[in-house]
Amino acid sequence: MLNIAIDGPGGSGKSSVAKALAARMDLKYLDTGALYRALGLALKQRGVDPEDEQAVAGALPSVELSLEYAEDGRQLVFVNGEDLTPYLRTQDAADGASKVAVHGCVRNKLLGIQRETGKRFNVVMDGRDIGTVVLPGADLKIFLTASVEVRAKRRIGELEKAGHPHGSMEEIMEEIAQRDYRDSHREIAPLKQAEDAVLVDTSSMSLEEVIETVCSMVSSIRK
Ligand code: C5P
Repeated sequence: MLNIAIDGPGGSGKSSVAKALAARMDLKYLDTGALYRALGLALKQRGVDPEDEQAVAGALPSVELSLEYAEDGRQLVFVNGEDLTPYLRTQDAADGASKVAVHGCVRNKLLGIQRETGKRFNVVMDGRDIGTVVLPGADLKIFLTASVEVRAKRRIGELEKAGHPHGSMEEIMEEIAQRDYRDSHREIAPLKQAEDAVLVDTSSMSLEEVIETVCSMVSSIRK
């Protein structure tokens, strides 16, 4: 199976690039952030404080998470049979995800589903720890970055397109910086470039340029 890992901070363009790569190279796409977001929402629905590790660990067995691919290739995330996909892209879901993602019990629960997908499909996975933890033997690892300002602008564009309300540019930049800090300073599986990952700074690249760069890397290893 061909396994491609794309890691990087929120708003670096990972998901747009991974989606396009999957479509052009006939791969499945696994958005691993969506799994953390779904778990965060499910815990919130149960009234669990995402920062209370014991409470989170206690509630986890009642959260049954599953993944399906729609006919058009879209990833759907179900919790106890309910499709939570439409609720995953809000700032609230992102915030909850990064709070629960610090706990080892949460990361362990999601590790199996991610590795299983890598074994079953030719897949491109995006996240924070794909190259370092989930798929250390991936055929290609890419680490995407961009400045906080560029990422905030992109995030606002995304939220507007989806019709979601959002705060000011300053507030979004602050949220992104806080989430970066939490993601890269947590003890378990922090956001980190794998030693054998290729770094791509997308701050001054168009999405199409990034997609072409990454597609040509994949083509060269597929030969
Ligand atoms: O990528 P996305 O913004 O959807 O991820 C939401 C949050 O989930 C991240 O801020 C991060 O804390 C967590 N996450 C993670 N490991 C991954 C993917 C996401 O810790 N592989």
